[in-house]
Amino acid sequence: MTRSSDLPPDALHPDTLAVSHGYDPHRHHGAAKPPIYPSTTYMYRSASHAKDVHRAYFDGVPLPGGEEPGHIYSRLGHPNLDMVERRLAALDRAEDAAAFNSGMAAISAVMLSALRPGDAVVHGRPIYGGTDGLLTGLLAGFGVKSFGFGDGLDRDAVLSAARDAAAAGPLALIHLETPANPTGAVADIAMVASVAAEMGDRQGRRPLLVVDNTFLGPFLQCPLEHGADLTVTSLTKYAGGHSDLLAGGVSGARALVDPLKKLRTFLGTSLDPHVSATLLRSFETMGLRTARACANARAVADFLAAHPKVRSTSFLGHVDPESRAGAMLARQCAGTGSTFSFRLRGGEAEAFRMLDRLRVIRMAVSLGGTETLICHSATTTHYAVPRERREAGGVDDGTLRLSVGIEHPDDLVADLRQALEAA
Ligand SMILES: *Cc1c(COP(=O)(O)O)cnc(C)c1O
Repeated sequence: MTRSSDLPPDALHPDTLAVSHGYDPHRHHGAAKPPIYPSTTYMYRSASHAKDVHRAYFDGVPLPGGEEPGHIYSRLGHPNLDMVERRLAALDRAEDAAAFNSGMAAISAVMLSALRPGDAVVHGRPIYGGTDGLLTGLLAGFGVKSFGFGDGLDRDAVLSAARDAAAAGPLALIHLETPANPTGAVADIAMVASVAAEMGDRQGRRPLLVVDNTFLGPFLQCPLEHGADLTVTSLTKYAGGHSDLLAGGVSGARALVDPLKKLRTFLGTSLDPHVSATLLRSFETMGLRTARACANARAVADFLAAHPKVRSTSFLGHVDPESRAGAMLARQCAGTGSTFSFRLRGGEAEAFRMLDRLRVIRMAVSLGGTETLICHSATTTHYAVPRERREAGGVDDGTLRLSVGIEHPDDLVADLRQALEAA
């Protein structure tokens, strides 16, 4: 009998993979749903079995008789982690994936693995605050230099930053976040991959191209299919989807992902069995949640864009399809997402008056949950960013970020309508 877990992932749609891929009930007493394995340690059948298991883990030597390697200690790996990683790899159309206990743990592992003192990094602007802090804090202290570019659709701008970086040290890594937070700035992954290839020819070493796919997630964008080497995702957001777990993932070729799994054992940032099980369940509804949140976001964004007190929105669904960004989005993305920002006419006072009147939409940072969340960027997510840099990045005192959830869209629009009366 052929079971879905035996079918090659390429043969199935993401919605199908998200429900059952990576879990085979027949290996778990027929349990229809995955059991949770809280055990921290795994027993050997004999002393020689112990040696075989360790040889398999450290040297990749297959176990006698084609037996599966099994587990040693849960920081190194456990059955629930395997299930999450197989499912994430299938969704990201990757050979392998590694799961971590937060998105930042995933990003840190990639950077600590790929970078050495003297190396240079190129990144799009703006980038996530945690990634920015890692580059300008810890890694700068280790002698890693970073260079930003503003327009991820402009090949000359990306190439010029890459050349500056390569002049300062070998360019080891290019980090993209597309779309970016909270401006919705987009980058052309295939174009940046061509810059990575060109830099590889020039310096004899191709920089690693890493894409942070948190804002769209695997249902709407597969960076690996456009030339990225690794996709990193904060699974805390749309994959977890209920604002009740922290997790991160990295997907790509096995040769790139395997060293990250080894590094994870030293950093101690593996995902624990209970959170793995919750995340695996959350994957099952990710397609439904993504579709509903995207439809809701369009309704909310259409309402906001037409409102006289709203200056502009960054909703990707409103990008002119004839523009460079619009043409690129049509090639690269299967949807326009559900987190975007909008700017009120006026500043902090107007924004605060409106926020304090909301009754359905809740005020908090983070995104990708079932509930709609809103925050005033300048005084929350971008609190520590100096005004000049913040405004250059498109965040002014009237900017509000909205992560649209799966509630009824009419209730969200009505809540915004009544709150905007106060703005
Ligand atoms: C939230 C976020 C992260 C960090 O993820 P955590 O799970 O909070 O560590 C990284 N990148 C982006 C774009 C994010 O939104």
